[in-house]
Amino acid sequence: MPSQHVPMPLGEFELIRRYFDRPGSGIGDDCALLRPTPGLQWLVSTDMLVEGRHFLSTVSPQALGHKALAVNLSDLAASGATPRVFFLALALPRADAAWLEAFAQGLFALADEHGIQLVGGDTTAGPLNLCITAMGEAPRAIARSGAQVGDEIWVSGELGDARLALEVFRGHVALEAEAFAACRERMERPTPRVALGQALQGVASSCIDLSDGLIGDLGHVLSASGVGATLKLDALPRSSWLAAQAPALQHTCLLTGGDDYELLFTVPPGRPLPVVDVPLTRIGRIVEAPGLHLRDAQGHAVAFEGRGFDHFASS
Ligand code: ADP
Ligand code: MG
Repeated sequence: MPSQHVPMPLGEFELIRRYFDRPGSGIGDDCALLRPTPGLQWLVSTDMLVEGRHFLSTVSPQALGHKALAVNLSDLAASGATPRVFFLALALPRADAAWLEAFAQGLFALADEHGIQLVGGDTTAGPLNLCITAMGEAPRAIARSGAQVGDEIWVSGELGDARLALEVFRGHVALEAEAFAACRERMERPTPRVALGQALQGVASSCIDLSDGLIGDLGHVLSASGVGATLKLDALPRSSWLAAQAPALQHTCLLTGGDDYELLFTVPPGRPLPVVDVPLTRIGRIVEAPGLHLRDAQGHAVAFEGRGFDHFASS
């Protein structure tokens, strides 16, 4: 009788060894041992990605591996940290070798780009859920609470494309193939602004990464700092395809979009900005009057109803 090839079921420990334990990781002991660089602080951030909440079931496992780490690197960037190590807690419906292979590829490609090493985690069966804890180092963290009246407000890159992609998926907007591909890339494979965050040490008075929409995230900086802001709507950096949409949709994408993973930071007037590989745009100023004051090109007040994303707000 011809022998039949029966694939070996992939067990928990074989799965960890095969996909996540790379040379020198130290994985296998009960605890990871970390040595801080003398004189630096640990900056630690955790972010969870839940299927249906943070990503669509159609996303490729490779993009998911990228994004799970990218959102954590973005938090480290906002604090001005240099990435060092991370932990991965993973719930998987099944141990699917092809899925794990692609997921690990996306994850480690980004990890290697930023010199951050996977040193531990947890693996369990269950509804797909990814939680990464990332640790970085810095002389000191850039806080949200340091914005001062008179500071300029700056943002990196372009805003709103990730939300525009979501609107296409929802069937609300149609885009040309090329524009849609670019927006989808922004949604599924965000670029954490790690080098910018590090370069803002000693420059920015406050910083935050834009994950939940500009209005909400800038709002966190304003309340933490006890100040207000004026924001120039026309100055908000956007792609040519977003600029071609109706003004109401543009404002929704730019102001409440979320998933931008750009850095928003404040700088005392006249202080030189670092030279980095991403465009920086001045979008407003910190003022004494509390709240966020939107202005059009003529300097007139603009009303806007939307708010930042909140998982527990009643829509
Ligand atoms: P424990 O039983 O103490 O919870 P585990 O058996 O869950 O430990 O994990 C064994 C080792 O594998 C530990 O060093 C743990 O950090 C590591 N590990 C488990 N899951 C992952 C994962 N998804 N990625 C990286 N390391 C992992
Ligand atoms: Mg465990």
